[in-house]
Amino acid sequence: MNQSIKSRIAPTPSGFLHLGNAYNFLVIYRETVIKREGKLHLRIDDSDSGRVRDEYISDVFDTLKWLEIPIESGPKNLEDFKTNYSQYLKKDYYKSFLKKLPDCYVCECSRSFLKENNCPCFKKDYSYEPGKNAIRHKVKNEEVFKKMGDFIIWRKDDLPSYQLASLIDDIDEKINLIIRGEDLIDSTKAQFYLAELLNDKIYTSCSFLHHPLIKTENGEKISKSQNSENETSLILKNLRANGTDRDGVLKKLGFSSWEHFLNS
Ligand SMILES: [Zn+2]
Repeated sequence: MNQSIKSRIAPTPSGFLHLGNAYNFLVIYRETVIKREGKLHLRIDDSDSGRVRDEYISDVFDTLKWLEIPIESGPKNLEDFKTNYSQYLKKDYYKSFLKKLPDCYVCECSRSFLKENNCPCFKKDYSYEPGKNAIRHKVKNEEVFKKMGDFIIWRKDDLPSYQLASLIDDIDEKINLIIRGEDLIDSTKAQFYLAELLNDKIYTSCSFLHHPLIKTENGEKISKSQNSENETSLILKNLRANGTDRDGVLKKLGFSSWEHFLNS
């Protein structure tokens, strides 16, 4: 029995949640609360996308309630989130970590330029100007560099990158179990590397679980940006409207019952 396990559910509100998110939330619940008697924190990563809308944030709360997932800490509703938890409120705090990270540099390259060329900016000593350039980190770990290159720490739109904001929040919230889809394995490696550079002892002693992603019937990855006819049936808001309950969601995910899911 271990009461000190703390994990987090951390969606990005850039669209309505879909079946893939439900699977992620339910796996986090099973692994943290059921199997380890741990507690769940809710974090909504709203600094990562200009597509954030209030209705997407509300959808997170509606979904957690519908899936019967108990949350111990974090925002209680849209209003609470906007007043007390939005990552925009912590922008200056995130920015203070730029000074603690060695080897950050300003990059002026466009994405299309970088497809064909290596970034020449490390040696150029540009100064950061929002709207014009971004801040990257000179990655000195071969494995991380191979996957991520010199990834962005601070974005062109004057906001922290996902890699930075998510890491700092996990450290501050003293998360010790991180469960995420296997599409984020490279992110985990990048964040672990940043945590080491920051001399952090919390993130670097975390346990990590990466679960497989669920696919559509055609074998495609589900994403929030897909809005085709097939995809609308995977949107949780639509399933709720049709009267589907948690067992119905589990059936769609290939489990015959809640017990079947818990034992899988
Ligand atoms: Zn560059």
